[in-house]
Amino acid sequence: MNCTSQYITNAVQYGISSFLHSLSSILILGSILSVLSLEGKRFSSIVNISVSFGLYNDIVLFKGFPFGASQVIFNSNKIKMVRLGNAAQTTQIFGAFTTSIPVLIAVYAVWFQFEDMIENGSPLDNGEIEENYDFIVVGAGSAGSALATRLAEDSSVSVLLLEAGGNPNPLTYIPFTSPNLGQPATAYLYATVPQRNSAFGIANRSVPWPRGRGVGGSSNINYMIYNRGHPNDYNQWAEIAGDKRWSWGNIFNYFLKIEDYHGYWDGNGFHNKGGPLRIEPVRYSPGIDYVLAAGEEIGLPTRDANTITQIPGISPIDFTQKRGVRFSTYRAYIKPNENRPNFKLLRYSQATQIHFDERLGAIGVTYMRHGVTKYVEAKREIVLSCGTMGSAQLLMLSGIGPKEHLLELGIAPLLDLPVGYNLQDHAVTYVGPFLLNKRKTSYLAERDLGVNAVLDYIRDGSGPLSTPFGVTSFGFVATSYAPHPSWSDIFWSMHNVGVHQSLGDDLDASYSTIGNLFRNYLQPHVGQDAHYIVQVGGLPKSVGRMWLSDSEPCSLPIIDPKYYSDPEGQDLNAMVEGIQVILRLYENTTSLGGRLGARLSHRRIPGCEHHQHRSRSYWECVVRTVTGTLYHPVGTCAMGKPGEPGTVVDSQLRVLGTKGLRVADASIMPKIINSNTNAPAMMIGEHCADMVKKTWGLETGVFRLNFNDDNY
Ligand SMILES: Cc1cc2nc3c(=O)[nH]c(=O)nc-3n(C[C@H](O)[C@H](O)[C@H](O)COP(=O)(O)OP(=O)(O)OC[C@H]3O[C@@H](n4cnc5c(N)ncnc54)[C@H](O)[C@@H]3O)c2cc1C
Repeated sequence: MNCTSQYITNAVQYGISSFLHSLSSILILGSILSVLSLEGKRFSSIVNISVSFGLYNDIVLFKGFPFGASQVIFNSNKIKMVRLGNAAQTTQIFGAFTTSIPVLIAVYAVWFQFEDMIENGSPLDNGEIEENYDFIVVGAGSAGSALATRLAEDSSVSVLLLEAGGNPNPLTYIPFTSPNLGQPATAYLYATVPQRNSAFGIANRSVPWPRGRGVGGSSNINYMIYNRGHPNDYNQWAEIAGDKRWSWGNIFNYFLKIEDYHGYWDGNGFHNKGGPLRIEPVRYSPGIDYVLAAGEEIGLPTRDANTITQIPGISPIDFTQKRGVRFSTYRAYIKPNENRPNFKLLRYSQATQIHFDERLGAIGVTYMRHGVTKYVEAKREIVLSCGTMGSAQLLMLSGIGPKEHLLELGIAPLLDLPVGYNLQDHAVTYVGPFLLNKRKTSYLAERDLGVNAVLDYIRDGSGPLSTPFGVTSFGFVATSYAPHPSWSDIFWSMHNVGVHQSLGDDLDASYSTIGNLFRNYLQPHVGQDAHYIVQVGGLPKSVGRMWLSDSEPCSLPIIDPKYYSDPEGQDLNAMVEGIQVILRLYENTTSLGGRLGARLSHRRIPGCEHHQHRSRSYWECVVRTVTGTLYHPVGTCAMGKPGEPGTVVDSQLRVLGTKGLRVADASIMPKIINSNTNAPAMMIGEHCADMVKKTWGLETGVFRLNFNDDNY
């Protein structure tokens, strides 16, 4: 798609959303007045209009509206409609209340987004900036926000941060909305090409791969799970890059520098306070004690995965949140530094090309701002932090990438580098539901999402609104394919979520399944307390590639992660082995199997009915059918030793063969880590900032905590 037509589409969307905003304000006001006047009849008819409006919004939103309240509104409406059916007047009042609050929040969100667009993106604001800056950082995501604001700590230099999107929509702050944030206003809606060996139950066998767009990047739409990775992950990077600065001993300091840790493991000696990123423990976790106790029974003790090992175990989740509210890199880095005189953040500005002098020194950036092409120069360096797809795409658009590929697209190649290769990701599968015979050991929307949930959230940021998709704990497991028993190769995102009415639809939407796979599979269990696990292949061997579809900067690239394509089949084998451990955890323990009577559903996943339930071939089928991503693509601009075949950037993140151009984001990871990737991307931004500062003789933020080496 060309950038001008994308801009027009966006502008139309924002226009319509502002109209809807006015309309819903009137309706909400009406609802609130009705509640206050306690006139049952009139108020219930207004509530009904609100319901229809909410539902209408729901339909429109899924077609691409710039706010993601749909789930909240939709669920509340469902609850309310059920209640109105048998309605006593007081129930109706609560129904109206539960509708009013989320709708009000939604309205605020739309209004905010519109205002943000007017302020920062309308043609009236031409985004006046200087002609040149010492440093230009492109992309204000997890890495770019950290990098740019650290560079700007030195007041003697000027820093420009170009970002394709605007400020985070307020709805992104409420963790509960996370599964719905894959919308055009908050995300790039990437998707993989049809997968050959997996995704059999997914529409077109194409796995959705949303990435965040806006100040804060993917940290605005992610699930906020805080993990750092295994020390060996980084020691391996150091070896690949031939540079000890990437080894755990050094990297650890950057993680500590990032942290303002108030998490579950506070005080264990492996965390720090006072850094920019707030981390807090899960605030809503029905049934978690049973899970932790069951883990202890089968050798998966409750332990912090973020120490010096990942010895198999389970931990309550630490989230990047403050009082149950998302703590993105916008909040951590940008907000506190936005007004520095030497720092300029230009929103709604999509870089389309990097320019070079005759010696391949990076000198400037072309970018598009509400349909107008502009140019800005860099006096010292340009750093790309556009994420795994964005940075690779921008390099290729600028003539750096596989020569043959660029020639095919009519892009003049400047440098022949393996950009886009080495793409790695964490593939996932769904395991469950494990049905439980004790009430209130999981979250059930019909029972647990109501006025109390709203009040809990307002009071102290707790309750179901504080978690994304009901995730409560995290497990690490070392299968026989793990490199070492203390370097796990499988991890679990554990969801204490019962089979509520919309769960099937939620999962169908999240995985983009065909034939309402989850709805059909879960239907007979609706209303039951249960848990499920999203199992992740943590150290996959399969490697894919991304490349350009054409030479248009606004076109989406072609992405092929090649899930489960490793010749030895280790990725699949490890997943099947991991599932056996899940079965033991739930069914063969006193805590879950005994006290809660946990049992896997007797039903077979649609598409795998021809396999004997629980047989190895059944589980292989499940893994290949219900294939998703944990949204952790890395590696397209891989760091390595200059001269080695896969290398795009050296250990100082400089693009080989160029001057004054670096890449700093998840794309530089030479190997995927056995962990979520948000904190590691921030660490890359912090580390790069120090390397850039050192290059230019600026004061680095060297940070060392007095650590007792016994802890290592
Ligand atoms: C749905 C989802 C759930 C996730 N859950 C978790 C989780 O729970 N825990 C965890 O640790 N990780 C999670 N992740 C992964 C994690 O958030 C990412 O790995 C991390 O944010 C990547 O950081 P980055 O800096 O590489 O890129 P991003 O944060 O994606 O930043 C890239 C930025 O560049 C901008 N950009 C792109 N192209 C251009 C251009 N041409 N010009 C200007 N700007 C541009 C984008 O708008 C974006 O702001 C999740 C990700 C997603 C999408």
